[in-house]
Formats: sequence, structure tokens, C-alpha cells
Amino acid sequence: MRINRGFLNLQDSYLFSRIAEKVTEYQKQNPEKEIIRLGIGDVTLPLAPAVIEAMQQAVSEMGSAHTFRGYGEEQGYAFLRRAVCGYYASKGVELEADEVFISDGAKSDLGNIPDVFAVENTVLVPDPVYPVYLDTNVMAGRSIIFSKGSIENGFLPLPEPGLHADLVYLCSPNNPTGAVYTKEQLKAWVDWALDHDAVIIFDSAYEAFVQDQELPTSIYQIEGAKSCAIEFCSLSKTAGFTGIRCGYTVVPQELVRDHVSVNRLWLRRQTTKFNGVSYIVQRGAEAVFTEDGLRQTQESINYYRENARLIADTLAELGLWFTGGTNAPYIWLQCPNHMSSWEFFDLLLERYGIVGTPGSGFGENGEGFFRLTAFGRREEILKAMDRLRKMPL
Ligand code: PLP
Repeated sequence: MRINRGFLNLQDSYLFSRIAEKVTEYQKQNPEKEIIRLGIGDVTLPLAPAVIEAMQQAVSEMGSAHTFRGYGEEQGYAFLRRAVCGYYASKGVELEADEVFISDGAKSDLGNIPDVFAVENTVLVPDPVYPVYLDTNVMAGRSIIFSKGSIENGFLPLPEPGLHADLVYLCSPNNPTGAVYTKEQLKAWVDWALDHDAVIIFDSAYEAFVQDQELPTSIYQIEGAKSCAIEFCSLSKTAGFTGIRCGYTVVPQELVRDHVSVNRLWLRRQTTKFNGVSYIVQRGAEAVFTEDGLRQTQESINYYRENARLIADTLAELGLWFTGGTNAPYIWLQCPNHMSSWEFFDLLLERYGIVGTPGSGFGENGEGFFRLTAFGRREEILKAMDRLRKMPL
């Protein structure tokens, strides 16, 4: 009997447990000090009224024999898949309902999509980035190479001459850097993927935060992308669904590799291993895409955006290098005075009672950088910024 040894090759993720340990220790030593958390990647505002109403209605339906529903289609109810198509149409992207798969959030599908590609494929993962892409491929035993994010490329790596990879992960707006690819930059990736028979795994979990009209919110806004890209999105940050759980994955019919439709493989994979998202949640998700739902969720996004602006303005005043914050809920800053990510973490915690996330937790190239998030409450953000302004640099 052999286990999957890929699991043994995973690096232990000490990031969040080490942060928690340090914060607990600090609180023990300084019980009178108030800690402000600017490290959380979770939303804090409640669900939109339109979503609550739709879910309450769905709960009532489940309580009546005439409207009760059992198993639904694994790939999601048609009403929600059509609503997602409508949302894409508003971005100028035409999709068919059978190209949309409803998920219980982007993480599961991002972790599961490699199932349909051979283990021999080489994977290109950005560094720094959301750690799920790397870890799921390490588990599967794939060979992995990295595209390097840096100040020089604005943390938006592009295909380099001689690059060979079969699966390429792109995250835009990026977690943790908040950087967003332009249409021209995404076109470079799409052209490269088409030339190299590669597939782009495009994570657009933060697309709703993009406010610059010129920036793409879907890879399918780029010509040719339907033949080379799968897109993953989520209502977690768009509509506060982190606890409710719902997302969607787009696998275009045009995407064919090795003479096989990837859409057909993903449908087969999902109908075999997944039993769908609950009816109640899907009705709530449908409500996000109604006029009321879009307006109400936009209000929450605007609240987080304003938080991001307050953080960004303070960093600019301090003269620190940073990116993100305008079209993303994340602000990525360079630690001052050549400090390492953890040294800066300790300084912020011990001197200012502020908790953020060390950039080194998102990959080697995150060393020397730091992530702040805009998901906190306004009073806390304002208080934290007052404290930060006192930082001698
Ligand atoms: N993709 C990125 C870049 C994320 O940062 C996250 C969550 O933090 C996810 C996907 C997963 O989101 P969910 O599974 O809640 O949809």
C-alpha cells in the first residue's frame, strides 16, 4: 500500500498559525493594547437584502411538498447559469449556459481542475500568489515552474522568451499584490498560450473590485481566450458569500486539447465527484445578479474600496512603495529599510498594534513585502492609519 507522496512534498503552511501565535503572545504581554487586524482576507459586511430575501423565499419553498427540491443538476440550476451568462453579457462576453458550472466557491474548482489534465504537464505558477495553485499541483506530483513577480514588472509577470509550460495560472486582480493585468498584457498571455497549446487557468475572484473601465474583468474580453482559458470566479468577495459558498467556473466549448473537449471532461468530472450547490444558496446567488442585488453588493464593494483608498493614501504619504488598492481589496507594500516581511510584521504589531500578512507567506518573491487588506471596519482602518502616520521612516 502506498500513499500519495505528493502530500509529503508540501511545504507546511505556517503563515496564519504563526501570525495567530504571535498575536496571542502579544495580547498576553500587553492586555491593555487594542489590536487592529488589517490582515484578514475575509469580508466583514453582511449579505445584501436582495440575497437574504431570495434565500428566505427558497427556504419556504423547501418547506412545501409542491415546491420542495432534492438533488439538482451537478453543474448548477439553469436559472443561475443563465444569470451568470447575463452578467458576462454586460461585460461584452457571450457565453452559453452549458459553458458555466456553478461551484461551492472558486477554491474547490481551482483545486479540482487539474483532474482533467495529465500529471505529466508542466505548470507555471506566479510567485507571489494565492497558495492554492501551487499546493494542489504539488499534491498531484506535477513539475512546477514559477513566473516571478517583482517591482520591475509591477508584480504582473509576462511570458518570457523560451517559456515552456502546459498549464498557466493567472490571478487578476491578484491576491496578494492587488495588481491587475491590462488587456494588452493578457493578450500577450493568450497569444502565447495559443501558440504553445497551453491552457490558462484564470482566477478572477476579485473582478468586482476593478473600477478602471480600461482594465479587463474577464479573460474572455481578450480575443482568442475562449480557445485557451478556463475562468474561475466567486461570489465570496463580490457579494459576501465566504460563508454561504458559491462561485462559478467557465469552460468554453471552443477549448479543445489533445482532440478532446475540456468542457465535456469537466462536466464528466463534476457529475461524478460533485453533487451541486444547495438550491437555497443558488437562489441567493441568482439575486446577486438582479438590478437590486448588483446595486446593493456594489455598495459594500465601494465601502471596501474606500478603505483601500484610505490605506493607499497613508502609504503614499509615508513614501512607501506599494501597488494595488485601486482595483483590488489588497495593498502590497515594500517593507521599509530593507526589513524582511516578518521583521516588519513584528514592528507593526509591537509598536502600532496592527496585524498584517507577511508577503513571504505567498512565495519566495514575496519576501521583503507585506499585504494589507481593505476588508476591515472603517473605524478600525481610520484608527490604524492614524497610528501608521506616526511611523518614523
Ligand atoms: N482565488 C483567490 C485569488 C482567493 O484569494 C480566494 C480566497 O481568498 C479564492 C480564490 C477562493 O475563494 P472562494 O473559495 O471563497 O470562492
